[in-house]
Amino acid sequence: MARRRLVYEGKAKILYEGPEPGTYIQYFKDDATANNAEKHGVIDGKGVLNNRISEHIMSGLNAIGVPTHFMRRLNMREQLIRACEIIPLEVVVRNVAAGSLSKRLGIEEGTPLPRPIIEFYYKDDKLGDPMVTEEHVAAFNWASQQDVDDIISLALRVNDFLSGMMLGVGIKLVDFKIECGRVYEGDFTRVIVADEISPDSCRLWDAKTGRKLDKDVFRRDLGDLADAYTEVASRLGIMPRNGGRAAAGPKLVH
Ligand code: 5GP
Repeated sequence: MARRRLVYEGKAKILYEGPEPGTYIQYFKDDATANNAEKHGVIDGKGVLNNRISEHIMSGLNAIGVPTHFMRRLNMREQLIRACEIIPLEVVVRNVAAGSLSKRLGIEEGTPLPRPIIEFYYKDDKLGDPMVTEEHVAAFNWASQQDVDDIISLALRVNDFLSGMMLGVGIKLVDFKIECGRVYEGDFTRVIVADEISPDSCRLWDAKTGRKLDKDVFRRDLGDLADAYTEVASRLGIMPRNGGRAAAGPKLVH
């Protein structure tokens, strides 16, 4: 059997060449990093949980006509995705003040925002993913004006869909990050949602208690990350409460 060709290895995922041209296999690792990889841990079962949660969200988006790179899940840790040209932006949508917005503007975490706010960050680990404006995006040709319009429209549709999905299971969608890519279809380019949408890239708070069910549990040392993600997966009906764990239980390795 031939060894698969590794295309790219990131902090939490690996991309392998797919079985057909124009496809990749996205592998979810158990690694967790925060503060631009200053903090690193390995959390048993995280990759399995994120693979399932991202599948659930992306296939829901595909079903309502929001195009994503997700094609199908292959196994516990891998999914088949459509190859696309990644636009080097992290697109953040915020409904409630938290994280870097609270820090930057001095707005208390938990304060509802008057409307969803979209921000762009330039994807560059060396620079720590700095926030940029549409002016930078246009001037440095990271995306065309049409791409930016499409990205904003996708981001708002993802926000509507995901807010509703989470609210239905008693979770408040505080904010999230998506990445987008371009695919070429004849004479046209289409912007699609890429990467993953999971508790690694969202802030999810229990609607009643405010309990954090996302990567802030790891970033801020608030407890067991796999427990929090398992809670999200089980509320969404995609995993039993002990799902994703190795038989020996959770293990945090620094
Ligand atoms: P903040 O800017 O407040 O740190 O993050 C806003 C939202 O985007 C949060 O839901 C956070 O999880 C997500 N986010 C921002 N940057 C990254 C990143 O580099 N990786 C991941 N996985 N999520 C990010």
